[in-house]
Amino acid sequence: MNRIIFLAFGVLIAARAGLTQEAKHTAAGTSDAATVIVRAQSLIDGTSDKPFHNMEIVIQGNRIIDVRPAKSQALPAAAQVIDLGTATVLPGLIDAHTHIFLQGEDPAAGGYDVQLLKYPASYRVARAVVSARRALEQGFTSIRDVETEGAGYGDVGIKRAINEGVIPGPRMWVSTLSISSTGGYPLEGYAPEITVPKGSQLIDGPVEARKAAREQLDKGADWIKVYMTHRSWLDAQGALVSQPTLTVEELKAIVDETHGWGRKVACHAYNGPGLQRALDGGCDSIEHGLEITDAQISQMLKQGTWYVPTLQVYYTDWDPADTDSGKRDRKRVALHGVAFGKALHAGVKMAFGTDVGGFKWSEPIAQEFSREVEFGMTPMQAIQSATSRAAELLGRRGEIGVVAPGAYADLIAVASDPLADVNVLKTVQFVMKDGVVFQSSAVAAAP
Ligand SMILES: [Zn+2]
Repeated sequence: MNRIIFLAFGVLIAARAGLTQEAKHTAAGTSDAATVIVRAQSLIDGTSDKPFHNMEIVIQGNRIIDVRPAKSQALPAAAQVIDLGTATVLPGLIDAHTHIFLQGEDPAAGGYDVQLLKYPASYRVARAVVSARRALEQGFTSIRDVETEGAGYGDVGIKRAINEGVIPGPRMWVSTLSISSTGGYPLEGYAPEITVPKGSQLIDGPVEARKAAREQLDKGADWIKVYMTHRSWLDAQGALVSQPTLTVEELKAIVDETHGWGRKVACHAYNGPGLQRALDGGCDSIEHGLEITDAQISQMLKQGTWYVPTLQVYYTDWDPADTDSGKRDRKRVALHGVAFGKALHAGVKMAFGTDVGGFKWSEPIAQEFSREVEFGMTPMQAIQSATSRAAELLGRRGEIGVVAPGAYADLIAVASDPLADVNVLKTVQFVMKDGVVFQSSAVAAAP
């Protein structure tokens, strides 16, 4: 007899116990794997332009094996049915720009510096464990975590602990230390006689650049993260200026090495010469990209460069409006929206990123969706930026970010239609990762 579990939203349900463990360690595709059926009135599959209605998703082990109209076929005798009622089911979301080792940069709480100067390594790890769980609770079943901000190779261990089932968390692509140049990353502003820790591995010259990439790749980096711009300010005409960091030669050494390992390079670049060097040096993804010229858009299209804008984070922690830094903060936001719209219109490949960690993990990661819509994406495009498009960025098209046969069983559900209001994605009420139900309740606040 089929065991049917109806999940009522807003109520804590202990659905984890029964389903989870059986599905967990069963090999995908084997005939004796437990079959789980997830039914919902509405399904957004991550690639199609329109939602489907009254569908069921058939899962064996950790993979989806069929997606079909509900009740269109007889179920195996032992199948378990999870009926999500009127909910909308989507693929597990993907955030392509996170920092699990950062806990916001609130100046009143000590900003960035306190985390490197006063947090013991064990404390940073403890909080990163919570950040990873927090991502999963919010429906992000995959993240590309773009450097640990002075916490060494901590991300490699967190990823391993998640993959071994020691702690809950999303699938992770990690980038370890990141690379910048001397004078190209905090901590800074201290007495020159004092040696302070740095949030990035600082190199000078192509030889050091390649060596840093080799070390990081050898120790577990899935992506190499490079800072191509650092400080930013407004010039006398009110234009945003960003200090370039690595030279094209330094970047080329990193890109060449990383591509040789079959891995990719993500480049933090705001605008100007640093962004130009990022493109000339062959970066695979431009992170933030606050201001992008038409010629740079064309170059991105030609080279197939990804764009991972992070709109919402620049709305936080503004300095006062009458200060130089306050004016810069407001200019960044104004430029970023324009760049986003231009890239979208031109057809640049775009993936969802938030820079969460730059803001607190207790805030909704999904607040980025409404910014994407504000600056021109349809709700469906915004959802796809965090599903099939981000999967493509990670080289995992068809495996994650999609509800289709062959994909991992990473599913979420929300109570109402996200195409009518993307803000419902802030309240994900059902999360399944790798065929295992992680939660089926309202999200509890993180510490
Ligand atoms: Zn970042």
